Parts: sequence; structure tokens; C-alpha cells
Amino acid sequence: MLQGRKALITGGSRGIGREIVLKLLRNGASVYYIDLNPGDSLDEFKELAEQHGLAVVYKEGNVADESTITTVVEEILAEAEGIDILVNNAGITRDGLIFRMSSKDWTDVLNINLNSAFYISKVVAHHMVKRRAGSIVNIASIVGVIGNAGQTNYSASKAGMIGLTKSLAREVAARNVRVNAVAPGFIDTVMTQKLNQEQREALTRQIPMGRIGEPEEVAKVVLFLASDLSSYLTGQVIHITGGMGM
Ligand code: NAP
Repeated sequence: MLQGRKALITGGSRGIGREIVLKLLRNGASVYYIDLNPGDSLDEFKELAEQHGLAVVYKEGNVADESTITTVVEEILAEAEGIDILVNNAGITRDGLIFRMSSKDWTDVLNINLNSAFYISKVVAHHMVKRRAGSIVNIASIVGVIGNAGQTNYSASKAGMIGLTKSLAREVAARNVRVNAVAPGFIDTVMTQKLNQEQREALTRQIPMGRIGEPEEVAKVVLFLASDLSSYLTGQVIHITGGMGM
């Protein structure tokens, strides 16, 4: 589906990002991923890439540091000789009621979840516009649409990402560059494994499908948005929530 394409993804070491790396490799794209560390998956990625005659390259970088990340992304664009797919996935939570939230927890979440997407999209969208082709997929969250007590910082970052998605989609649509977002609900990763059993059960009760989602169920939709299957789709936010927040 993605034969000959090259993808750049942030936060590919684990969780949803890891599944996206695997999904893109299995569907024929070479992958560059940026993370704070390579994680445990690099050998598995390399083996899979080799089987398919593809490349997988890890680059260290903090997505919240504008000058570092701009340099890393420019390096990747030069090395790859073109990027067709960008997935802005890296993200964190620093939960707490606003009365107790420190400015650092607010700023860290906004920097890592939202500002990073601005820094990276700015460079990559410019490159895609010049090539008259590309697909950008932003990993937002259902919380950016419906809100969540204890997550003012996180939901603001994800709502911001949705605004960025729609505005950038309008800026680049005429140049054949598409920009979409997914808004996952409750997905089983390290991010959500921090919740205790009681919180998990309470959350699961809010999901019409009655279960937590798997990272691969997000990766499948990202594959769709990254590929030509979604060639007439831009500026959209696809909810992947088992029906939560519909
Ligand atoms: P995760 O398991 O915590 O993975 C996040 C990844 O991002 C990790 O590899 C992490 O690296 C990396 N990362 C964090 N800060 C970074 C930074 N400053 N620079 C570079 N990389 C950084 O989380 P996840 O659940 O897969 O989440 C992935 C995305 O989906 C996030 O944007 C999240 O908000 C979104 N999302 C998740 C859920 C869910 O239920 N899990 C729901 C909706 C949306 P380290 O391993 O080094 O920390």
C-alpha cells in the first residue's frame, strides 16, 4: 500500500508510535523515527525492514526543543531524499486538577504535545508543498474534543492540535498535501497503564464497545490516512474510541 514511500514519526519507540512504525513497515514504507531513546523495538523494526527490503532509522531528539528538532528533521529530509508521510505522535500526560497543577506541568505538556507538532510540521509541510505531495497525521485525543477533569493541560494540547490540523489542511490542500488527525479514546499503553484498576473500570463503563482499545487499532487508521485510500480526505478528525464521545 505504501511501496516506495518514506515516513517520519515521532515517539516511535513504544505504545501507539511503535505500532504505527510496524504498520507502515509492513505496508511497504521506510521509516525514520525520532524519540528520546530507541527503546526495545529497534532490533525488531530492523528485522522487519530487512525482510521487506526497507530502511528503518532511529534519530534521538526531544521534540519540544525547537532548534534540536528542526536540525534532526532537516537531517532526515536530506538523508531520506524526501518524506511522504509525517506522523506527529510523541506525547505525555501530567495529570492533576488545575488548582494543584504547576506551571511546569502545564508548559511541558503544551511543549511536547502541541508545540512539537508546530516545529516539525513547519519544516515538513514546506518540503511536502514543494513536492506537491504528502500526508500529515496528527495523534490528538478524544479528550481534546470532550474535555476531561484532571487533564486541562493535556486536553488543551490536543484541542490545539485539532485546530492546527484543520488550519494547516486549509493552507496546503491546493498543493496536494493532506493533513488529518485521529482522536483515540482509551488505548492500552504505558500512558494509560498508570491508571489504577478502579479508574480503568470507570473509564471502560463509558465506552459503548465495552473495552479498551489496542494500539494497533489506532495504527490501522493512521495507515488509512497515510495512504492513497484516503486521497480525498483532509482536515478531518477521526475518533477511535469504541464509540466513546460520539
Ligand atoms: P507512550 O506509550 O507514553 O509513548 C509515547 C512516546 O513518545 C514514547 O516513546 C516517548 O518516549 C515519546 N516521547 C515522549 N516525550 C518525548 C519527547 N519530548 N521527545 C521525543 N519523544 C518523546 O504513549 P502512547 O499512549 O503510545 O501515546 C502516543 C500518542 O497517542 C500521544 O500523543 C498520546 O497523547 C496519544 N493518545 C494516547 C491515548 C492512550 O489512551 N494511550 C489516547 C489518546 C491519545 P520515552 O519512551 O523515551 O518516554
